[in-house]
Amino acid sequence: MRLSRYFLPVLKETPAEAQIASHRLMLRAGMIKQSAAGIYSWLPLGFKVLKKIENIVHEEQQRAGHIPMLMPTLQSADLWRESGRYDDYGEEMLRITDRHGRDMLYGPTNEELITDIFRSYVGSYKDLPLTLYHIQWKFRDEIRPRFGVMRGREFYMKDGYNFDLTKEDALHAYNRHLVSYLRSYERMGLQAIPMRADGGPIGGDYTHEFLVLAETGESEVFYDSEVTDLTFGDREIDYDNVEQCQGVLEEFTSRYARTDETHEEALFNEVPEERRRTARGIEVGQIFYFGTKYSEAMNATVVNDKQERVPVHMGSHGIGVSRLLGAIIEASHDDKGIIWPEGVTPFHVGIVNLKQGDDEADAACEALYKSLTALGLDPLYDDRKERAGGKFATMDLIGLPWRITVGPRGLKNGVVELTCRKTGESEELSPELAVQKVA
Ligand code: ATP
Ligand code: MG
Ligand code: MG
Ligand code: MG
Repeated sequence: MRLSRYFLPVLKETPAEAQIASHRLMLRAGMIKQSAAGIYSWLPLGFKVLKKIENIVHEEQQRAGHIPMLMPTLQSADLWRESGRYDDYGEEMLRITDRHGRDMLYGPTNEELITDIFRSYVGSYKDLPLTLYHIQWKFRDEIRPRFGVMRGREFYMKDGYNFDLTKEDALHAYNRHLVSYLRSYERMGLQAIPMRADGGPIGGDYTHEFLVLAETGESEVFYDSEVTDLTFGDREIDYDNVEQCQGVLEEFTSRYARTDETHEEALFNEVPEERRRTARGIEVGQIFYFGTKYSEAMNATVVNDKQERVPVHMGSHGIGVSRLLGAIIEASHDDKGIIWPEGVTPFHVGIVNLKQGDDEADAACEALYKSLTALGLDPLYDDRKERAGGKFATMDLIGLPWRITVGPRGLKNGVVELTCRKTGESEELSPELAVQKVA
């Protein structure tokens, strides 16, 4: 992309309404624009990162054997009356009446809708196990929308639902989700720690939240520092292997790690003192096994091998796709701007032409642009007639991992400058080598 043809409305001033770094930086980098409280337009740069994150989630869900689909944002109230949640959900639910006086709602989540789909088509244990998911906009009329996309009212979420014959099978689905979430967050350059969460009115031990440690997080968290040493890495995983998935769950959840909702001081005190940590965290996902709560209420049953009709065991599993942009930036920025991890960066590399209009510099930039593109990389070429300082500031703000700076003086010696956004280190090298290093 050539910056002269792109739409990147960078702000010079720091927006007064933004209280935390990620919100400020997303506004300044021209990624989002608020349309109403907690509702945002995704400008091209923000949209690009959103799609990158969405893509990683899709890939990892499908790797785990989960099946993508798409449900609508608007739902009929009837199904929610059936489950009993139409009244229980409270004021976070945006209720709408259509022209015929029918009660509708903008879905805050999709258990009812997916359970209805399931019961309409599936009747035999032979069709199980089944895990369906979608990535769709949700609406929750949060009392205090704030921190930009972190706590929006309209937000983008992946929600997946497993249907299994037995509790045991459903717990395997739970474990698969845990593993696939660990992989997903790591690909985004994030450490998200699974922490024992509150089962709410349904109770039970089978729910974990994934938290990214950050000072601006809304949850208070308590953990054994050993949990921050764990990484999933590139180990092979067979999602059908029950023991292997269970092993990962045990490895990642056996140490003390809880949010304020489930924190138990006495248990925490059993962790050696030097490893006890109290911090703040951002919830970027949650997995949940809830058994037959919805299947019983909504009569989602299958016939088992003894010809008995039994309610299916279910769980639901969410990732806050749009919140993740905020979480990633909170975890990775400096006073100049965002520092995108490679896995989610909107462009791989920026090219800065120090003297736009200089034949040699222009030609060198064009050549770089071509070779990077040919390698399947996505460069952003700042081809505007602007001061170098302004160009550097924009590149630092939007946080691409690499910058290649091209100017007449360097070209005389056959070199360009390659700068790493994260370390700030620069080196002079030939254009060919610079391309190789970035690729
Ligand atoms: P929170 O505790 O932050 O209100 P939640 O527990 O209500 O979140 P879930 O129902 O678990 O949210 O939804 C799954 C994921 O969706 C959350 O882990 C979070 O990442 C994301 N999410 C929830 N509410 C919002 C919101 N208002 N804005 C952006 N993302 C959200
Ligand atoms: Mg909530
Ligand atoms: Mg929560
Ligand atoms: Mg939650």
